[in-house]
Amino acid sequence: KENKKLDELKQRIEDLTPEEYKTYTNFNELPLTADLLKGLERSGFVKLTEIQKLAIPECLKSHDILAAAKTGSGKTLSFLIPVVEKLIFESWSDMDGLGALIITPTRELAVQIYEVLLKIGKFTQLSAGLVIGGKDYAFEKDRVGRVNILIGTPGRLLQHMDESATLQTNNLQMLVLDEADRILDMGFRKTLDAILGQLPATRQTLLFSATQTKSVGDLARLSMIEPKYINANLAN
Ligand code: ADP
Ligand code: MG
Repeated sequence: KENKKLDELKQRIEDLTPEEYKTYTNFNELPLTADLLKGLERSGFVKLTEIQKLAIPECLKSHDILAAAKTGSGKTLSFLIPVVEKLIFESWSDMDGLGALIITPTRELAVQIYEVLLKIGKFTQLSAGLVIGGKDYAFEKDRVGRVNILIGTPGRLLQHMDESATLQTNNLQMLVLDEADRILDMGFRKTLDAILGQLPATRQTLLFSATQTKSVGDLARLSMIEPKYINANLAN
């Protein structure tokens, strides 16, 4: 029964056109799993912001995405919803290990993303973890090998990738770069390149920034495939 529902959702996603999804106003119009819709509803999220309306359907369709939308426009849910759905569709379980990696420039942003994920993902079976530096290295090290979705800052993430044998990225389905322009502005280009070099090339990549920057797109190892450009800053 569950599989039948997922197959129906997959078909709806495949059939969904921009003409159609651009008319949507609420999350519950999107082809999302019941567990996630419940999490969104309980978290008080009802209406889609512009970037959510434009980006979520294309992400669900498994495209690589280069998206720009100003601060406060709702980018977090724009990538968290597709991340959660991707892993549900893949019937991801604890045994599958790390399925999605979300990189963001600061600890504060990482914590915010983590808290939103815990809320909206409450009714799913997925697990999530944070790697953000500070004093909890041993705790992080123990946990990184056991989570499905990992959110981290570049420096600490690379440290774990180099030092924690438990952090396996070979099964990774999805990479998200949040505030990609800021990651580069803050001098993380080399760190980011080193991280990207350790990830499987076959994956979906979602890149979100406040502005549409060329410097982000030319990241050598980003290896995006025919990315969709989505710019919510032009929309109104
Ligand atoms: P950005 O990453 O683009 O700066 P956030 O994702 O952090 O923006 O969202 C900014 C604020 O808007 C947060 O407080 C978040 O809870 C709220 N928010 C995001 N999407 C929605 C929505 N669809 N409905 C209501 N509030 C939202
Ligand atoms: Mg943000």
